[in-house]
Amino acid sequence: VSGGLQAWIARGKESPFELTEVELDTLQPNEVRVEVTATGVCHMDLEGKDIVPLPAVFGHEGVGRILEIGADVTTVQPGDRVIMSYAACGHCGSCAADAPYHCEDSWDITFSGLRADGSHTMREHDKPVSAAFFQQSSFAQEAITPARGLVPVDSNIDDTLLAALPCGVLTGAGVIACQFGFRGGEDLAVFGVGAVGLSAVMAAKRLGARSILAVDVKPTRLALAEELGATHTINPAQEADSVARIQELFPKGLPYVVDTSGNSTAFNSATRILKTGGRMAVCILPQPMETFSFQPFEWFTRAATLEAVSFGNAEASSFLPQLIDWYDQGLFPVDRLVTVYPFSDLNVAVEAAMAGEAIKPVLDLRAS
Ligand SMILES: [Zn+2]
Ligand SMILES: [Zn+2]
Repeated sequence: VSGGLQAWIARGKESPFELTEVELDTLQPNEVRVEVTATGVCHMDLEGKDIVPLPAVFGHEGVGRILEIGADVTTVQPGDRVIMSYAACGHCGSCAADAPYHCEDSWDITFSGLRADGSHTMREHDKPVSAAFFQQSSFAQEAITPARGLVPVDSNIDDTLLAALPCGVLTGAGVIACQFGFRGGEDLAVFGVGAVGLSAVMAAKRLGARSILAVDVKPTRLALAEELGATHTINPAQEADSVARIQELFPKGLPYVVDTSGNSTAFNSATRILKTGGRMAVCILPQPMETFSFQPFEWFTRAATLEAVSFGNAEASSFLPQLIDWYDQGLFPVDRLVTVYPFSDLNVAVEAAMAGEAIKPVLDLRAS
């Protein structure tokens, strides 16, 4: 048992996170204990409050140094610097086929607040609390996580930038590189240029896109999208008819559209700008009861494909090193998305993200 650790706990759906003291369970043979040095903050850490039984410790983009390994762990050693990536069971059909992003148990092991065997990894004042969020719960000074989800790092890139990568950035870059298999020389539109959309823009530029159209209602985000590779921008709040404007720019339509907006107007606009045989990938978790009306005719006449994206179809142990390599070469400037806060400022970081002031907030645990 590892005790006296600071962690941010969520007790209510509307209330801010509270700093508390927790203890970690002893390690199971396949697990490691990580000293968390940095962790990303993602909107799933807020949406998780509606899914995971509370009280719960969230955080799912942890980076750190391994303190202890379980008896069966052979892939990493104490002292190794690692990213904790998304959770996968390791033995279902998808995991066995090297497609952990489609793990059949993904929902439960991500959101149950428990290990896969139903046990708790964390206690607060001797009472078990939900943790094991994405099988890590990195809003704490230390985390227990299965060794299979770890990605070792041997770059000089700062921990706060590594912590920006494993969820939204992996998804946005992965949809281009892994899901679409983008080969360059092609056109792409991205609806919504937050962390996921901007990562799609950067990956498309890296892979040699011909045109990259960014669509967003926030002028500052469109300006950043342009700096990161967008060749065209449209602000629907400033256009009488943004679809007509896009059709003027791309009369034959676009072969690839990425939707990160989660908005039905954007969804229907995106539909109408696809070219024949085009593909549209939806990258954001919809509200469970949400319904959109749409025109099947628009899809049929284009023979278009609508795809949901799970972690960008990216296998983290190979794709995260690829993104780090791109960053090291100056070809994937993820630092432009990141705002760093001390660990003590989680609620400040959340507010800045909600207000659209911080694109990718990251907590630095070394600073507190
Ligand atoms: Zn699995
Ligand atoms: Zn996330």
